[in-house]
Amino acid sequence: MAELVFFSGTMDCGKSTLALQMDHNNSARGRQGLIFTKLDRMGESVLSSRLGLSTPAIEVSDHLDFWDTVVERLTQGARVDYLICDEAQFYTPEQVEQLARLVDELGIDVHAFGITADFRTELFAGSRRLIELADRVQLLQVEALCWCGRKATHNARIVDGVMVVEGEQVVVGDTASASVGLVEYEVLCRRHYMRRMNSHAARAAALSPDTLPFDLDVCAVPPQPPSRA
Ligand SMILES: [Zn+2]
Repeated sequence: MAELVFFSGTMDCGKSTLALQMDHNNSARGRQGLIFTKLDRMGESVLSSRLGLSTPAIEVSDHLDFWDTVVERLTQGARVDYLICDEAQFYTPEQVEQLARLVDELGIDVHAFGITADFRTELFAGSRRLIELADRVQLLQVEALCWCGRKATHNARIVDGVMVVEGEQVVVGDTASASVGLVEYEVLCRRHYMRRMNSHAARAAALSPDTLPFDLDVCAVPPQPPSRA
């Protein structure tokens, strides 16, 4: 039976790497699939992982119709056994419904990958619809870590070094613009997300004689700046 599966996790949890692995495993068994992504860090029409692997992919615009796209391929004589859908948090709810229909009516497996919540801890629209419709939601096994060593569960947005909890939902990371500033993302545990304490703020607080002493057992000082590969 074909399935709609949503593989979810925080940023840095290796979901794009798993998406590439999933495509490899399927094609190694002689199955044929299509790969989709949206706003990949490497640019348009490519699915890339932080480990350095990448593959061409179909860029998902808001106007793309998954049902029409796949049916058109089938009509042309192509075989489509499965879809790999990365960055699925950015898809529209309607697009997620099209994916469910492909599973139910055409028996195509859909493996969707995405982060669940944005930097404000609110669900992305695409992820919400996937959680509502998926046959299975699978949390990824590779856990990202907060600077304190705890399991990272939240995505924080850092603008010019300072954590923010307001702003546009979608701003691609590692970009600078005059109006917004330098936007980066960092994964944190809930405790440090709630305290607005990213690694930079934690180091500054630990080094400053002006800040009130805080519990070092609770807030260990990060040893190194996080490496952003
Ligand atoms: Zn933490």
